[in-house]
Amino acid sequence: MKRKLIAGNWKLNGGLAQNQALVQGILAGMPAGACRVAVCVPAPYLAQVGQLVQGSGVDLGAQDVSAHEQGAYTGEVSAGMLRDFGVRLAIVGHSERRQYHAETDEVVAQKAQRALAAGITPIVCVGETLAQREAGQTEEVVKRQLAAVIHLNGHCISEIAVAYEPVWAIGTGKTATPEQAQEVHAVLRAQLRAATPHPERVAILYGGSMNAANAAALLAMPDIDGGLIGGAALKAADFLTIIQAGSVLA
Ligand code: PEP
Repeated sequence: MKRKLIAGNWKLNGGLAQNQALVQGILAGMPAGACRVAVCVPAPYLAQVGQLVQGSGVDLGAQDVSAHEQGAYTGEVSAGMLRDFGVRLAIVGHSERRQYHAETDEVVAQKAQRALAAGITPIVCVGETLAQREAGQTEEVVKRQLAAVIHLNGHCISEIAVAYEPVWAIGTGKTATPEQAQEVHAVLRAQLRAATPHPERVAILYGGSMNAANAAALLAMPDIDGGLIGGAALKAADFLTIIQAGSVLA
């Protein structure tokens, strides 16, 4: 079984003192032989958290990246700038950005392209809303979202990571069952298999109310290569329990 990836998405949370306590708590409890671990932090804290995790084996991640390289795009942060601060992974196309910032599949694909060009692994988020699931459109929606990224990024596609995040499960406490998640992961895996000779390189993470209690069952599924964790990544003890679950299975 390949090494799992457990990535925390801090979203719009944190502060200098809070970040320090959280990272120190995570590092202090990191199990020996841990799976791959990353923290995706708000942009202003990249330098601080980068220093805190330096040499620890925990990777630094961003929560977004600009679709542009440089220029008159006020407020944007480019992939090159992220790279300057040691960022290894960047979330792109999180449903909150698709919903609140009107990011289209094409924009998400461009963001993934910028990240890849800078040597950063984009974690491409896909997932259906509750209405789409109830209408039987889950497979169609996630395949369309991933297809846009495959289309633009062609032979580089084996360098991405994917996060299946059903929108109805994010921050709601309603987790997909391991079987529901596995079913969609298998669809995504098949899509990647058709797109690249190296589909095994792509980590497909599950995200959506993954927590200390349900992580082990989700991570035990054959096509779930790790987790993208929101709320539970803000408490060192909970995040460590998830890391432990991923490490045992790695
Ligand atoms: C997320 O937003 O990426 C996420 C998975 O959030 P939560 O774990 O809080 O549902």
